[in-house]
Amino acid sequence: MTGSLVDFHCHLDLFPDFERLVGECDRERVYTLAVTTTPRAWERNRDLCGPTSHVRAALGLHPHLMAEHWREFDLWERHLHETRYVGEVGLDASPRHFRSLDRQKDVFRRVLAACAAAGGRTLSVHSVRAATAVLNMVEEHLPRERGTVVLHWFSGSAIEAKRAVALGCWFSVNGRMLRTDRGVRLLRSLPKDRLLMETDGPFVEDAGRTLRPVDTAFTLEALATALDWDVEHCRRQILANLRTLVGPSSLVSGSSRLSA
Ligand code: MN
Repeated sequence: MTGSLVDFHCHLDLFPDFERLVGECDRERVYTLAVTTTPRAWERNRDLCGPTSHVRAALGLHPHLMAEHWREFDLWERHLHETRYVGEVGLDASPRHFRSLDRQKDVFRRVLAACAAAGGRTLSVHSVRAATAVLNMVEEHLPRERGTVVLHWFSGSAIEAKRAVALGCWFSVNGRMLRTDRGVRLLRSLPKDRLLMETDGPFVEDAGRTLRPVDTAFTLEALATALDWDVEHCRRQILANLRTLVGPSSLVSGSSRLSA
């Protein structure tokens, strides 16, 4: 690989070779946000990712776990001062998780309020079949100047996307989004300075293989094709976006570190 890449949503700790994968991200220069699903995983993620130059851990409370694990909010909140990255959090109203939706909303509201109170957090947010509900809650509980929402693998409507943009949201683009005409149309409608890339590994496979952060090389090609851009131009845009998002003091050039 010739240049740096970005995977802003990957569950590194759910891969069997978690530790090795953290090293791989550094070696291959993939700026990676290691999202987590439960705050019980936080300390290990923090300790493994903290010393690296390219990987940062995000403190998560996944909507799929909220039927059983909603009480972990307290633990989540206790760790919030240790990180500027939060995720995976959000809502999922698909049939399998619909029953816990009230609980999910209660937890997500508290997550947003805690982030608003703390300030300066960047959140990787899940919004499957719940984009409007997520945007309503972001609008109500997380003022734009108090935190930044990155919608992960966004699958809402064109109208919802427009509203998300107006609310200041960013988008981490998953390769799967680019396989449908609808996804490509959506992508083209988004501001290009609010785009990042993601794999959502290990939940996504391609050609029988689980996607790892280095595979954003393929996401990049698909993204460039969908935008009708040169690949290198596209890569530079994504890196510039990441730099804008995380701040000039921390990343890519200069100290070349994602700040904690
Ligand atoms: Mn995920």
